Amino acid sequence: MSEPAGIWKYVRGFENMSLCDWPGRTTCIIFLGGCNLRCPTCHNYQLAWDMHSLPELDPAAIKAYIRNRAGWLDGVTVTGGEPSIAPGVGELIWEIKKTGLPVKVDTNGMRPEVVLDLMQDKLADTFAVDVKGPWHKYPALTGGAVSELAAQRNLNRIFELAEARPEMFYFRCTRVPGLTDIDLATVRNYLPPTHELTIQKYVPPRRKPENAKPNHEERRPAGNVVN
Ligand code: SF4
Repeated sequence: MSEPAGIWKYVRGFENMSLCDWPGRTTCIIFLGGCNLRCPTCHNYQLAWDMHSLPELDPAAIKAYIRNRAGWLDGVTVTGGEPSIAPGVGELIWEIKKTGLPVKVDTNGMRPEVVLDLMQDKLADTFAVDVKGPWHKYPALTGGAVSELAAQRNLNRIFELAEARPEMFYFRCTRVPGLTDIDLATVRNYLPPTHELTIQKYVPPRRKPENAKPNHEERRPAGNVVN
């Protein structure tokens, strides 16, 4: 395999098939390394914070897999880490869309300008946005990466986009330790009336981030394309 260029350098995981990632669809999942947050509850911290410790994947193999399976896949998810911080994520999506498959992008919503670009360029078809909790808990929930004000500002912008194009957005909140029923009700109230909040059960990572050898296997698969 020749060394991947551009955005493909960020591709550090690939899951051939998922029946549950995009409700009602059979998808494959591309995992991009890097994240702008430091959530203490992160399952994918190796991918998110130390992507260079994971091998680069062969872009040609991934593209061939998607092209060859386009007839029975219903879409492709681009996740992370945080896809919106990967330079050139639009180019990656554009390459996928040449197969005719729709693309869902997972995001923490802290870069609404990237979400808007992907909408305006007709690249992403759907966004799954993780709302971490009430605004005042964002600093604790994101490892100090996001202030209360920044969380409110960025997600309110996302909510405006969702109100304009309701069919393009899902909102999710994972009930991590420290979030109460009142917190979840608060988050639900942030959403536009056009949307419901999906509450996800939190499953603790099998190893703690401070342990020497992190894992990401709860979400990220083995990493090689298996035909
Ligand atoms: S936003 Fe997601 S990938 Fe990034 S640190 Fe938080 S849980 Fe991990």
